[in-house]
Amino acid sequence: MGRHPHVIILPLPLQGPVNCMLKLAELLCLEEIHVTFINTEHIQRRLRSCSDVESRFKRYPNFRIETIPDGLPEDNPRTGDRIVELFQSMEAESQMILREMLTSGSLGPNSEKPPSSIIADGFFSFAVEMAEQSKLPLIYFDTISPCGLWAYLCLPRLIEAGEFPFRDDDLDAPVKHVEEMECVMRRRDLPSFYRIGEIDDVLIQFIMREAWELPKAQALIFNTFEDVDSGTLSLMRTLGPEVYAVGPIHAHLNSRLAAAAASFYGLWKEDKSCIAWLDAQPPKSVVYVSIGSLACMTVDQSMEIWHGLVNSGARFLWVHREGSIVGPARDDDKDIPAELAKATEERGLIVGWAPQEEVLGHPAVGAFLTHGGWNSTLESVAAGVPMIGWPHFVDQQVNARYVSEVWKLGLDMKDSCGRKTVEEMVREVMDVRRGELLGRAEAMAKLAESSVKPGGSSYADLDRLILDIKFGRF
Ligand code: UDP
Repeated sequence: MGRHPHVIILPLPLQGPVNCMLKLAELLCLEEIHVTFINTEHIQRRLRSCSDVESRFKRYPNFRIETIPDGLPEDNPRTGDRIVELFQSMEAESQMILREMLTSGSLGPNSEKPPSSIIADGFFSFAVEMAEQSKLPLIYFDTISPCGLWAYLCLPRLIEAGEFPFRDDDLDAPVKHVEEMECVMRRRDLPSFYRIGEIDDVLIQFIMREAWELPKAQALIFNTFEDVDSGTLSLMRTLGPEVYAVGPIHAHLNSRLAAAAASFYGLWKEDKSCIAWLDAQPPKSVVYVSIGSLACMTVDQSMEIWHGLVNSGARFLWVHREGSIVGPARDDDKDIPAELAKATEERGLIVGWAPQEEVLGHPAVGAFLTHGGWNSTLESVAAGVPMIGWPHFVDQQVNARYVSEVWKLGLDMKDSCGRKTVEEMVREVMDVRRGELLGRAEAMAKLAESSVKPGGSSYADLDRLILDIKFGRF
């Protein structure tokens, strides 16, 4: 192996994974590792118009972005229920182009340095065969939560034991065949895909292939840290590949750059006006509400949440991502109820996309009502903000349960967003159990901070990964 290893990074073309992988890329570039980052054309276009990715990476001559088509028409929403179309089209079309790129060595300006390894999102099960064909070691970076991934990996056992699929009338039954989860998890706390009755459902098939292929990689990277996930990481180590837990990756990059906040690589333009609004609110008085970049809600659900927030009496900052409210509008939606409009004007703010890391780090924020995506969860953990989980899909059901029952950093609304539930949960986190939840969240944030400092577990794992890449292990 030469002195300049060259890593190909292949993120899942979605907000969370792209942002995480770009942060990993920067951490590798800082160590003089060459990186070719493969974006889809769609993602690259949006990153260019909404973030400073190009100017940010100009300082790294060892970094290149290459693009491939994702095979979907530009107007496909690539969110909500239609996300599966993106996975299918990546597998059917982009995969071939990638293979050709790797086997022919046509990697643009980085072509003169042959690739030495591939870091791919764990969801790309085809990467195993692609890496074998191009004779390159494969490292999977699973940007979902380790506990969510473990629930995926256990799907074959749930099927074998006859527990899958879950019936709607039996969702409170305890989980029996998922090691480490048996004490705390009910069926409703496992990924919502498991409620689908068909074993040949497209998403179930993707998960099965992921469970099958993942152990064939040489290494697994996780965006987490030992103090929060030691139990699940021990289980991951039994799979065979070398395990590196390098998170929280946003805090890790900030710490290594000695910067207050490294860039966030957003696919939407951030509305920074909410920071000035937060500046004017009392400490820990605001509930921040967001369902991330993929989940959607109906008009009815959004009205319930709105009533719940208003009735709780709390101040709130709510992200309404464009296109995130779906389905038929109700007749009475034309006029927003006067009490909601008035309360929102007095003590609320609605924005299209927020600078979330900055928002969670703001002293005015006292709680996060979140869909429980892993990036949002970890950003909240790192900022010491208690959570209320309203999970939608992927790993979110699992994450929300871990937040409430394992880490005890918040509450889990699971499968309900009625106004009464929202009101009660907000009151509980902001008032009734405020001291207890804040105390635990702040203690966990300190552990997260130490993990990415010299001597910390994530710091040591990243150093080990860098050495293993540099000295030719991968
Ligand atoms: N995010 C943001 N502004 C928003 C909403 C979300 O910057 O208004 C970011 C958030 O900080 C996180 C990512 O979008 O890094 C969402 O990733 P997550 O894994 O939480 O959920 P997903 O979008 O994949 O469901």
